Amino acid sequence: MDLEPLISKAKMASAGKTGGWRNYRPVVDEELCTTCGVCTEYCPEGVIVNGKIDYDFCKGCGICKEVCKQEAIRMVLE
Ligand code: SF4
Ligand code: SF4
Repeated sequence: MDLEPLISKAKMASAGKTGGWRNYRPVVDEELCTTCGVCTEYCPEGVIVNGKIDYDFCKGCGICKEVCKQEAIRMVLE
C-alpha cells in the first residue's frame, strides 16, 4: 500500500532541519523489511516510508525500531 500521499510532510523549523537533534539514527535492513508500513503509521514525524528515511527530519526517537515486527531497524550512534 502506498502510504506516502496519506502522511504529512516534515518541514523546516525555525531552528533548521530537525534531524540535527538526533543522537541515534535508525538504519533499515532492506533484506528484512517487508514494506508493511507499520513504521510509517507510528513515526511521529512522518519521515519513514517503505523503509526509506528522511534523515533531514528524523529525530532518532526509535519508535520505528520498537514497532517493527521484522526487527529490520537498528539504532546506530551518530
Ligand atoms: S515496520 Fe519494519 S518491516 Fe515494516 S516497513 Fe517499517 S522497517 Fe519495513
Ligand atoms: S527514529 Fe523516530 S523520527 Fe526517526 S524515522 Fe523512526 S520513528 Fe520516525
